[in-house]
Amino acid sequence: MTAKVFGKSSAEAQQRETARLAALESLDLLDTPRDAGFDRIVDLIKEIFTVDIGLVTLIDAHRQWYKSCSGLPSDEVPRGDTFCRHVIDVEEAMVVPDASKDPRFSQHPAVTGDAHVRFYAGVPLKTKDGHVVGTVCAIDRRPKSFTAKDVGILQNLAALAMDRIELLQSAATDSLTEALTRRAFRQDAEQLISLALRHQHDLSCLVLDIDHFKSVNDTHGHAAGDAVLKAVAATCKAALRTGDLFGRLGGEEFAIVLPHVNREGAAAAAEKIRALIASQDIEGDFGSLGVTASFGVSTLTLVAKDIETLLAQADAAMYQAKHDGRNRCVSWTSLPAGHGTGARRRVLKAGTIVFNDRRSSIDCTVKSLGFDSAGLSVSSSAGIPSEFVLSIKGEGFETKCQVIAQDRQHLEVAFR
Ligand code: GH3
Ligand code: MG
Ligand code: MG
Repeated sequence: MTAKVFGKSSAEAQQRETARLAALESLDLLDTPRDAGFDRIVDLIKEIFTVDIGLVTLIDAHRQWYKSCSGLPSDEVPRGDTFCRHVIDVEEAMVVPDASKDPRFSQHPAVTGDAHVRFYAGVPLKTKDGHVVGTVCAIDRRPKSFTAKDVGILQNLAALAMDRIELLQSAATDSLTEALTRRAFRQDAEQLISLALRHQHDLSCLVLDIDHFKSVNDTHGHAAGDAVLKAVAATCKAALRTGDLFGRLGGEEFAIVLPHVNREGAAAAAEKIRALIASQDIEGDFGSLGVTASFGVSTLTLVAKDIETLLAQADAAMYQAKHDGRNRCVSWTSLPAGHGTGARRRVLKAGTIVFNDRRSSIDCTVKSLGFDSAGLSVSSSAGIPSEFVLSIKGEGFETKCQVIAQDRQHLEVAFR
């Protein structure tokens, strides 16, 4: 993104990208659960154009994430040099009738490799304010012609997807688990927090993420995964009081706000729910299975006094719980000094991880940021050393980092 992009200066392209990411962040849709509305749009794409693959995607700073996908095995790919990246850059529809004959794509791994992509048609997924947050595409393994009328139909389907996104902004609960949606959870949490601040009472926040959930899906199937999500959500809700908030932040990550509960009380509540989940037998067509979850705990203070900060702190503690072996609870305040324990907020910024004497770099998305620490998402943490330089594009921000905890796609770092 540093080179000139289609005649625009790199500074201009950078500004546009920053505004695009801000628009994407405010939609608050990344990593949200599957939704039948988008799945239907993708099915329509496959039927109308008789293609193998249909996609509705969102593109953040390091990856292309599929809000809905039919015909491909994964749910995200590194942003790198994807076909859709071109649609984002030019902000227009792109049709490639035969990728093997197109000099831009003939050597692309998706074309030369097993995926065997030949045909691609993609249109921008555009917000009302004109920011291109993702794409809607039809892809096939055979070459294909696509008329201007076809492009028009695909654009209409993209508009339908955008309407669906807007409709979802007002949904209060997640249909699978009946937990609050991420957006509704945040709004309600902000209200409880202002009450707590005004009346000077305690409030705490828990984040929990099911351990090795991917292997539940892989071993027992997606329906079993859904049953586990429902059962875990039901267990959490049964353990909570009426005034508590329970929300689904993403796939298998939930959050809880406990008003009138201090740090010790929150640690005890987390431990109680952890034990309940670990001892639960989940029954279904798949037989009986058990799961565990890792918890992070944070508490309202004079520096952590908004939901973004509380979630970012609880999240960082939760990653430490994963790092320490899973099926356990960790409090933000118990993270050791040198961990970077200053206030931290959720953000969505484009970052670069630089290492190997500046010879290697990897795109990342900065998900949370404080003055002494950050949480980063990457396509794969494999091969990233424990110390590197993080720079945030377009902000002149550059600092040395030490990895504190990590999993497959996430790094917790302290600044050095
Ligand atoms: P960890 O212990 O580190 O948390 O590992 P994990 O396997 O739980 O975490 P990871 O993030 O690798 O995998 C989460 C999986 O959850 C991947 C995704 O396909 C699946 N998932 C997300 N949403 C849903 C859903 O609504 N239903 C089902 N069945 N699976 C989902
Ligand atoms: Mg998990
Ligand atoms: Mg997770």
